[in-house]
Amino acid sequence: MTTRDFSDNFEELTLPGVDEGEIVVIRSARRKKSISAYRQGGRIVISIPARLSKADERAIVPEMIAKIRSQEESKTPGEESLLARIDELLTELAPEITTRPISVTWRGMRERWGSCTSVDRTIRISDRLKLAPDFALDYVLFHEAIHLEHFDHGEQFSEVLGRFEDAELASAYLDGYEAAERALLAPSELKKLS
Ligand SMILES: [Zn+2]
Repeated sequence: MTTRDFSDNFEELTLPGVDEGEIVVIRSARRKKSISAYRQGGRIVISIPARLSKADERAIVPEMIAKIRSQEESKTPGEESLLARIDELLTELAPEITTRPISVTWRGMRERWGSCTSVDRTIRISDRLKLAPDFALDYVLFHEAIHLEHFDHGEQFSEVLGRFEDAELASAYLDGYEAAERALLAPSELKKLS
C-alpha cells in the first residue's frame, strides 16, 4: 500500500468498550473483497474494501475486533499455567530454590516487566508480556521467581539467572520492546522522560 492510499483512506472510529484511537479502519481501493484485521502495536487495524457500505462496516468491524481479541485471549497463558511454569523453571534450573509463589497475576505495568514480593510470595507480570514469545515470558517469570529467595540483584542472583539459556535473546527482546514503545510515545510524553 502506498502512503497516499493510507492518508486518503483511513479513518478512526470509536466503538463501545474500545479506547479512542485503538481501532484503525483502512479503506483500500485495491482490496476488492477480502477483509483483514491485525494487531499493530497497541492498535487493531482493519482493512476493508473501499466499496463496502457504511452499514456493512458497522456490522463487520465489531466482529473483527472480537475475533482478534478472542485469538489473543486464547494465546494468553492463564495464571494457573504461569504458576505451573514457574515451578517447572525452578525445578529444572534452580532446584535449590524450594519456595514457590502463592500467586502469579497479570498486571497492567508499563514501567516494569515483573515484580515479586517475597514476604507474601506474590508475583506480578506485566500484561505487555501477554503475547510475548515463550522465552521472553519464561525469562521474566524465572527472574521474579529467583527473588523469592534472593532479594537483590547481587552475585548469587546473577549466577542463578545466568542458567537461563536464552537470557541474551530475552533481554534483547525486552530492550527492543521498550525502545519501540519510547519511539511510539507522543513528543510531549517523551519530554517528560528526558
Ligand atoms: Zn529483579
